[in-house]
Amino acid sequence: MRPLGLLGGTFDPVHYGHLRPAQEVLRALNLEEIRVIPAAQPPHRRTPAASAEHRLRMVELAVPEFAGFRVDDREYRRGGPSYTVLTLESLRAEFGARPLCLLMGIDAFLEIETWHQWTRLPELAHLIVMQRPGWQIPAKLSAWAAPRICREPHALAASGAGCVFFQSVAPQDISATRLRAAIARGESVAGQLPPAVWDYIRTHRLYSVREN
Ligand code: ATP
Repeated sequence: MRPLGLLGGTFDPVHYGHLRPAQEVLRALNLEEIRVIPAAQPPHRRTPAASAEHRLRMVELAVPEFAGFRVDDREYRRGGPSYTVLTLESLRAEFGARPLCLLMGIDAFLEIETWHQWTRLPELAHLIVMQRPGWQIPAKLSAWAAPRICREPHALAASGAGCVFFQSVAPQDISATRLRAAIARGESVAGQLPPAVWDYIRTHRLYSVREN
């Protein structure tokens, strides 16, 4: 069974730095599809600048540009804090033994020990860390990952969960924080996110008040 790719995030707003690395992983690991799963109520960060509904709508507008991507709104339907462990449990219940690949940027991986019930994550899915040059993994996290590291993509299809797999992707120098700041300054961010998302931001005047 081809693995299912899962890309969670706040997506405030969704941009090519989220979508292009995931597209590379989809192709490199021969995934069945990428499910983009916006966090209705991200547990880790301050309240997003755009409402949950706007963030979901922007993701819906973004994915048609990317073959094999689809939106999964289960964190909205569930309510409460959008803990990844609960999302994986619900996907596992739905998909049985199918391999699940949870994609995350290396910056997210470096904070994984702060996630709710984080040690259960590899029981429920493979962790695919989208590697970018210049990031070092601290010794403690490295020691935790070491026995779980898989280097062959076929290992991901051979079991439902349990691997930590590092996938190099082309760096995308785009950050949602910087996009929001640029929009607040009245600058165009065209080219850094799908045109339909940029149109939506302008139509709804999102991010137009400078964040403190
Ligand atoms: P912010 O700048 O507000 O912190 P973010 O885009 O980093 O936003 P999320 O929307 O939660 O935050 O990111 C979702 C996922 O996308 C995370 O796994 C993150 O590591 C990854 N990601 C974000 N930007 C990039 C990028 N430029 N290249 C690769 N991965 C990225």
